[in-house]
Amino acid sequence: MNIPLLDLKAQYQSMRSEILAAIEATCDEQGFILGPRVVALEQAVATYTGSAHGIGVASGSDALLLALMALGVKAGDEVVTVPFTFFATAGAISRLGAKPVFIDIRPDDFNMDPALLERAITKRTKAIIPVHLFGQCADMDAINAIARRHNIGVIEDACQAIGARQKGRHAGVLGDVACFSFFPSKNLGGFGDAGMVTTNDKALAESIAMLRVHGSRVRYVHEAIGINSRLDALQAAVLLVKLKHLDQWAEGRRRNAARYVQLFSEAKLADRLTLPAVGPDNFHVFNQFTIRVQKRDELRSYLKDQGVGSEVYYPLPLHLQNCYRDLGYQKGAFPQSERAAEEVLSLPIYAELSDEQLQYVVQTIASFYRKR
Ligand SMILES: *Cc1c(COP(=O)(O)O)cnc(C)c1O
Repeated sequence: MNIPLLDLKAQYQSMRSEILAAIEATCDEQGFILGPRVVALEQAVATYTGSAHGIGVASGSDALLLALMALGVKAGDEVVTVPFTFFATAGAISRLGAKPVFIDIRPDDFNMDPALLERAITKRTKAIIPVHLFGQCADMDAINAIARRHNIGVIEDACQAIGARQKGRHAGVLGDVACFSFFPSKNLGGFGDAGMVTTNDKALAESIAMLRVHGSRVRYVHEAIGINSRLDALQAAVLLVKLKHLDQWAEGRRRNAARYVQLFSEAKLADRLTLPAVGPDNFHVFNQFTIRVQKRDELRSYLKDQGVGSEVYYPLPLHLQNCYRDLGYQKGAFPQSERAAEEVLSLPIYAELSDEQLQYVVQTIASFYRKR
């Protein structure tokens, strides 16, 4: 059997004609920069998340950059975030000359540990970026309470978490401003790069919309030094078609996650691996199904030989990256992030997986541990 980590071909085949028709209509219109399809997607994502405003941008990375810019983050400021995330979370902070200040994650859900937040805040702290890693929201009540006390902005890195909820509210309305990515491998993926910012704050929304077009509200009049970061109309056309199916795909991922839990428990692998923990307030959308395992790298290459794709998100925490040497963090600074980097393995979880495929993944892992 051959089971890639992610296979988008089946999803595409199921809506191929609708997507091609939307692309054709966009080409016929010849309006590729912002315009009605981008506005329609902005409104659709705002409505979907329950947010007042959506601003389409070129990528999730740019969404983070623009959110920080709109909050006034500049050189010399500090922004608190986690080292166990995709690089873009911290990269956006550094791009502005600000300093990422890392705090460790909780071992159960891999998200920011709010118990460590307060002591990381200084007079220079301008924002906090919790990441909703793998499709499950960070503990936003605790994070927001601390942020409010210090009058600091909260930016949700919701790039992996469109559709995720906490206490019934969607990722996208759980902080001051939220950032989404439509990179192809995300739960709502385009045919290239695209992203979105959501916020309930009208002034922030207007500021981000201004900053994404070189800081201009009126053409050729520039009130701030912004960037060029628009959501492409062709991507908007594709994403509008796919958004209608997002909840159904999330249900498929959740169903597969529940089936994995059942199969792993039947296989009696509890002492060999740790399954994802879902917080009682959380609706997890499983952008990744990430387990902790013993002999991770050996298992991964065994799975590969048996035709099962897997991936390590993420093998090197950001505080240990070469480009962040100057921040001065040493190995051992964030033990939970470092341990996670050594133990995690993400398994195929996409909605179209069959029960035979799920069984094969678990059987293959069981057979690996039987030999060891
Ligand atoms: C994907 C991702 C990003 C960046 O999004 P792009 O659209 O690839 O720029 C940022 N943060 C996290 C946590 C992500 O998973």
